[in-house]
Amino acid sequence: MTAPDIRTALPGPKAAALIARDAAAISPSYTRSYPLVIARGEGSTVEDVDGNVFLDCAAGIAVNATGHSHPDVVRAIVEQAQRFIHMSGTDFYYEPQVRLAETLAEVSPIPGPVRTFFGNSGTEAIEACIKLARYATGRNHLIAFLGGFHGRTLGSLSLTASKTVQRRGFGPLLPGVSHAPYATCYRCPVGLRPDSCSAECLDVLEHQILVQLVSPDEVAAIIVAPIQGEGGYLVAPDQFMRRLRSIADAHGILLVVDEVQSGMGRTGRMFAVEYSEVTPDIVAMAKGIASGMPLGVALSRADLMTWPPGAHASTFGGNPIACAAALETIRLLKEQLIRNAEIVGARLKEGLASLASKHPMIGDVRGRGLMVGVELVRDRTTKERAIEERNAVVYEAFSRGLLVLGAGKNTVRFCPPLVLTAGQADTAVRLFDEALGAVERSTRAT
Ligand code: PLP
Repeated sequence: MTAPDIRTALPGPKAAALIARDAAAISPSYTRSYPLVIARGEGSTVEDVDGNVFLDCAAGIAVNATGHSHPDVVRAIVEQAQRFIHMSGTDFYYEPQVRLAETLAEVSPIPGPVRTFFGNSGTEAIEACIKLARYATGRNHLIAFLGGFHGRTLGSLSLTASKTVQRRGFGPLLPGVSHAPYATCYRCPVGLRPDSCSAECLDVLEHQILVQLVSPDEVAAIIVAPIQGEGGYLVAPDQFMRRLRSIADAHGILLVVDEVQSGMGRTGRMFAVEYSEVTPDIVAMAKGIASGMPLGVALSRADLMTWPPGAHASTFGGNPIACAAALETIRLLKEQLIRNAEIVGARLKEGLASLASKHPMIGDVRGRGLMVGVELVRDRTTKERAIEERNAVVYEAFSRGLLVLGAGKNTVRFCPPLVLTAGQADTAVRLFDEALGAVERSTRAT
């Protein structure tokens, strides 16, 4: 399939009919930004039910690492399904689960012995991290960051501080969670620049939260995403991650790194934390790990994961088909796709950054590998957020055959499959250019 190829008004008739059925039957809490009804996918392209073909820079929210229905992943899934589909790895043994844990140990950003807990999603990975950190330290308090998104079940939601709509009406959440300011470098709270700062934004955590609010010896873990995803594709500078590690070390606090979105090759490294050379104690993974099969992982220093049988488990976690898909995904990542993410990601970021000379709405272009965000502003000096404009740009991109997603209030995120080609990256930049132009024209006209 070659994208884009838009043949009908959007949504087309078949898509409109399905969306009407969805509206009556599905939870209204889902967040659809545009009416895409997918019929099939291939690599970095998707075809909708009316025959329109789109270039996919959303990848099912940064999930389809190896592209849609990669033949090797499909083969691994089919072969495993023919052998057996489920046996519950918590009560029985099977080889794909063990092999995946061994493979994860090989690619782990934690040197030395590690152990793996399997769940089915990002939020379950985070729940396991929370429980493990509390269990291993005997402490209960948790530190997370403003802007962070860690999931929507009640434990992970207690860490999530991205949008109030995600928390409103669900309290009380876990007691004993404090949120510190994150490295929001484009809008640095202390007016510094990332190339010369010492992560002074962490002063609030070190000198206020851990002094005025909670005694550090009651803190089990600091949970941090090396790049905030839902928060706006904010990249924590290496010195931020290093300073966090030293704050944690000073107080015997565990450092939990949420790599649910930034992990599995997306940033041009297997894990984004590798850029800072910081060693975490526990890592959460999900999304891209199994190319779309549901799988969540909490990988931890082996000496921390000493909880007894029954302390934590999940019927479906580490499902054999998901494990088979993950093994094939990791093979493809190592062989080629991490490198592709680095090279094509750099080209995409450069292309998007070059649009800034034409489009004053572009305030910042940031990211690593194929995790790139474009923050839109109404004015580059005041940095007033272009919120409605961002939503309009996402829609205009869709109507031109480019799938992107919002992140934060006013950022557009590009998180394509890691098989994106250089040509497709250029096409994405061209379509985004057109989408920005359309919104700028309509803004001027009103
Ligand atoms: N952590 C991060 C960094 C995420 O981006 C997400 C999902 O977007 C989650 C956790 C939760 O993952 P899931 O939606 O699979 O529960």
